[in-house]
Amino acid sequence: MNIYPVNARPSAVTLCKAALATAAFTLTALFAPLPVAAAAPADSAGAASSQPADAKPRIIILATGGTISGAADARSAIGYNSGEVTGQQLVQGVPGIEKLATVKSEQISNIGSQDMNDKVWLTLANRITQIFAKDEADGVVITHGTDTMEETAFFLHNVLESAKPVVLVGSMRPGGALSADGPRNLYEAVEVAASAQARARGVMVVMNDTIHAPRWVTKTNVTSVQSFQSLNAGPVGYVDPASVRFLAPADQTSHTPYTLPKDGQLPRVPIIYAHSNMDASQIDHAIETDARAIVIAGVGDGNVSKPAMEAMLRAVQKGLVVVRATRVPSGFVNRNVEVDDDQSGFVVAYDLNPQKARIFIQLLLANGITAADKVQQAFAATY
Ligand code: ASP
Repeated sequence: MNIYPVNARPSAVTLCKAALATAAFTLTALFAPLPVAAAAPADSAGAASSQPADAKPRIIILATGGTISGAADARSAIGYNSGEVTGQQLVQGVPGIEKLATVKSEQISNIGSQDMNDKVWLTLANRITQIFAKDEADGVVITHGTDTMEETAFFLHNVLESAKPVVLVGSMRPGGALSADGPRNLYEAVEVAASAQARARGVMVVMNDTIHAPRWVTKTNVTSVQSFQSLNAGPVGYVDPASVRFLAPADQTSHTPYTLPKDGQLPRVPIIYAHSNMDASQIDHAIETDARAIVIAGVGDGNVSKPAMEAMLRAVQKGLVVVRATRVPSGFVNRNVEVDDDQSGFVVAYDLNPQKARIFIQLLLANGITAADKVQQAFAATY
């Protein structure tokens, strides 16, 4: 489904506007909640459920945009534009991909992942559920911007029931850049999604020959192709064009997915970033504007200044869930070390980074889990 032709672009400003208009069209057209039983788009239909034993794996690529769909524009003031190339065009640019699997692509959105949002998440979750329920594919690959890829991966990990492979992939360099990493990353993502070893591994991220679990993976460098790392755990496997290797057997523990919010919106939960000289204003603003919870990206062990701590206590009094995470890239925030969490009614995020802790508390709240002790149990149960 090629609904995003690459346009001739007279100027960077026109180009940005065109990209936004295209994204807006896509949002309008595609973001209406997609019921699980809805009819599949025309270009994804027709996968038979009884495949011959020697048939190639069937992979559906869900394209969302990002640098992997970016095209360098020599006339633009900026280096390139995210979301210029369709999923179908991406596949056509990867020689040999057709030998790995029967690949079809669908355009879900065409946005930079800095604009990723609940609507796209729900569309992705519903479409993937539908694909596996109707046996349309053996695996799904999602092309995605790298800025928030870890968040989409973590969200999907928590809401999808099927453990069939769902591989998120992006690129650090746009198409047309010297040594663009997108084609190889996409090849390897399809290779992983199509591999027998990935059958029961659920959501993964594949970047630069490395396979990561959503629980751990994070973007660690603004530009490096080796940006994606699982700091507290290490990758779950490696891939190159000749092999897929996982480092441990698939996790067989059952995974109860969280239910998607019926109104299509996750509760509002701001992340508040701690720093020296921190005052209470942002926490008080969250209370005044009816946030349901706040995640503190604390210094060190999830710490904040005294005025901020007093505001956090006010937030608990007002019924907000207060989650202490850390702005430090690795390590664990544990309960009752420098802060008396028991007495204060706080929750700690352990090693979930603030952006993943935010998604997790959103899902808990959306599923009616609101008491601090129950929220804390749920955070502890993500291991
Ligand atoms: N801003 C881009 C995005 O996240 C960056 C990238 O994809 O690498 O969509």
